[in-house]
Parts: sequence; structure tokens; C-alpha cells
Amino acid sequence: MDYLKDKVDNLKIIVFDLDYTLWPFWVDTHVTPPFRTDQNGKVVDAYGQKVKYYPEVPEVLQTLSLMGYTLGIASRTSATEEAEQLLDLFDWNKYFTYKQIYPGCKTTHFNRIHKDSGVRLSQMIFFDDEIRNIRDLKAKGVTSILVKDGVNKRVISEGIKTFVAENNDSE
Ligand SMILES: [Mg+2]
Repeated sequence: MDYLKDKVDNLKIIVFDLDYTLWPFWVDTHVTPPFRTDQNGKVVDAYGQKVKYYPEVPEVLQTLSLMGYTLGIASRTSATEEAEQLLDLFDWNKYFTYKQIYPGCKTTHFNRIHKDSGVRLSQMIFFDDEIRNIRDLKAKGVTSILVKDGVNKRVISEGIKTFVAENNDSE
């Protein structure tokens, strides 16, 4: 099965962390707001430094969204406004139905997504680069995938494969 082509029925929401998961920096410390789009269409920070994302992220978000998955964000950053500004400038807001961006334990973020969507935590998958978040959400029944070098097509495909394996085990 090609997990980037064939949708998994009982997987309803795909949730991403931001820092070191969709982009390679901490938005609260490594870049300087305000951000803007320069004359070449690149997003830059206050010093004119290019603000990057992991290269395959736009394609991944577009593919998953076209496949019919609902997408969400769960970030603990305190730089909520800055993160929101980057999501806007990268033109990624069109992909995300749920955005939970504020400090605290990520179980709070997921409980909110559950409440807003009516989708069970066991029907969600979560990608994050920090082991403590992975542990917290695994304990709640979310298939949680530790991301080492940012999100890319391989990470997603392997992650969904893990979701399918975990779901089969429990049923
Ligand atoms: Mg992170």
C-alpha cells in the first residue's frame, strides 16, 4: 500500500508540531520578527535572513490534504503570534483545520482538538521532534511518531504505516 496515495479510513486527523518538525528552528528564539515576504517571494525575518522550512513540507501538506485527511498543529511555543505569521506567509493556513499554539502539556492541545472535532485520539497521528511530547501522547492512545530531521514524505509514509500496525493490534 502506498500511504501517500491510498487513504487509511480510520485515520482522521494528522497533527504536526512546528519547531524542528515543519521548520528547522525555534520560532521563539532563532528568528526575529516581524517577518515579511521579500521581492523574490522569500519569507525573511527582521534582519532579511531567509526563514526556511523543511523542503518537502509544502508537498506533504498538499498531498495529505488532497487525500482527504484533516490536518492540525499542536505547538507549545510561547511565540504564538510569530508562528501564526509564518503559517500565513508560507501560505499553509489553507491546510490546517485545527491549530493549538500555546505553552503547556500537549495532552491539552489534543484534548482540545478532540473536543472541537469529535474525533477520538486513537484516530489521530502525531509528528513531533521531542520525546517528552511523544511519550505524553502515546500514553493517551495517539499514534506518535518521533521526527529526527523534520517532516518529509518518507517520515509520513512510515508514520501512517505505524498507525495501521497499531490499529490492527488493538482491534
Ligand atoms: Mg518541536
